[in-house]
Amino acid sequence: MTSVCWFRTDLRVLDQPALAAAAAQGPAIGLFIASPAQWRSHHDAAIKIDFWLRAVQSLRIELERLNIPLKILVVDQWAEVPSALLAFCQQHDVQNVHCNREQGVNERRRDRASYRLLAEHNISLLGHQGGTLLVPGSVKTGADAYYRVFTPFSKACREKLRTAPYQLTALPKKQTSKGLPSSDALPPELKPLLAVTKKSLQDAWPATTEAAHARLELFAQTRMAQYQPDRDFPAIPGTSVLSPYLAAGLISAGQCLHVAMHLNKGESDTGQRGIVVWINELLWREFYQHLMHGYPTLSMHQPMRPETNAVVWRKAPEDFKAWSQARTGVPIVDAAMRQLLATGWMHNRLRMVVAMYLSKNLLLDWRLGETFFMQHLIDGELAANNGGWQWSASTGADSAPYFRVFNPISQSEKFDAEGRFIKHWLPELASLSAKEIHDPSTAARRALNYPEQIVDLRSSRVRAIEAFKGLR
Ligand SMILES: Cc1cc2nc3c(=O)[nH]c(=O)nc-3n(C[C@H](O)[C@H](O)[C@H](O)COP(=O)(O)OP(=O)(O)OC[C@H]3O[C@@H](n4cnc5c(N)ncnc54)[C@H](O)[C@@H]3O)c2cc1C
Repeated sequence: MTSVCWFRTDLRVLDQPALAAAAAQGPAIGLFIASPAQWRSHHDAAIKIDFWLRAVQSLRIELERLNIPLKILVVDQWAEVPSALLAFCQQHDVQNVHCNREQGVNERRRDRASYRLLAEHNISLLGHQGGTLLVPGSVKTGADAYYRVFTPFSKACREKLRTAPYQLTALPKKQTSKGLPSSDALPPELKPLLAVTKKSLQDAWPATTEAAHARLELFAQTRMAQYQPDRDFPAIPGTSVLSPYLAAGLISAGQCLHVAMHLNKGESDTGQRGIVVWINELLWREFYQHLMHGYPTLSMHQPMRPETNAVVWRKAPEDFKAWSQARTGVPIVDAAMRQLLATGWMHNRLRMVVAMYLSKNLLLDWRLGETFFMQHLIDGELAANNGGWQWSASTGADSAPYFRVFNPISQSEKFDAEGRFIKHWLPELASLSAKEIHDPSTAARRALNYPEQIVDLRSSRVRAIEAFKGLR
């Protein structure tokens, strides 16, 4: 009898509970199911799919070191996954399938349907906790409800992690390869998905666990202690840029937490300020994953605050186009959008700035921005993306109050004072002084062929506040 580790967004061998469980029951086989049509329906970005598929290829090499073959199936839609999984289990005489749980509603439907069909054939599907620090649903208020406010949630997480520290799952032992199938190469129908991303971008985002750990190590040794003052300035490399690796599971949040706490002498909420603040960001990730588990409607385009369904969003396709094509006339917004379009990644401070600009100054439905981000981010992740958009649009749990609208020009002056980030991404403005670059004069815009602002920031702020005022 064989056991399977079904890999999804957990493409690693270390701290991989599902793999460890499959190997303990061994012999084990790894399985990855590629679902291009499903991915398209989730708006997964081409650059992210490219990253996943390259990660799957390096996972195969890591598994082969343990004599665990990796099989790859192509099953276009998740509705077809249960029967494909059953056929796979029957073909390879599989008794148990292990996977790490995912929180999205479609992911859970797929897993429930697979569980039921396999059970009818006496094959078990066992879920493990491999994507979060704590089991979603295990951190609740005294009234047995999911926390909707981050600070008490993070306190409760820290308390739980203090009494029962996160345990890293060990690497499985090398198994004997006797009688096991050989690994699959990437099926030819997936190769076109790799061809769309430029080689220079693939080089910028190496899709290996070694690269993830090297990034974490470098960040820990050189930047983590300085994280708090540096993290808001997009022109300096003040953050870890680990998000694509965390989103695809090439590294776990637990591995990140261990490195941070080791550096901070075992503490998560006292000690070096930068490290404590970085751990807090891992807990924001945790917060949104737990919310997605507790409130499945978040995966169904619903706001966390139902009263915000009454907001009348503008229909202004030209404004959306200008935002998405980096032509709003607000340099920091346009520079941020160029960063996204060119690299598949955007700095957190700027994600907040452009999201608030879209949902408040342009008063466009935050779901348009959420989808656009998913279509372009290499780290696009349902829970964090939804959480970030709902925070910015004031529709979410513990979100920005509707009357606190960021002024993108003040944000620019504060967090990119010299205009270094702007000049990098908008080289056409490179000749402007640090004073003028945040909001060039009409004459400078004309001379440099840079557009006028598409909305007036002051009146559009008032319009947004009016749209939210009085919602019950
Ligand atoms: C509108 C909007 C959309 C976003 N979409 C995504 C997304 O699709 N995927 C994604 O991973 N993050 C998203 N974020 C959160 C955050 O911007 C990124 O995680 C962060 O910029 C990644 O950079 P980093 O790895 O250098 O983070 P660091 O600052 O080094 O933080 C370490 C890790 O903590 C997690 N993290 C940090 N900040 C947040 C946060 N606010 N919410 C949730 N997790 C966080 C990430 O996994 C990150 O890699 C979004 C934020 C906003 C405002």
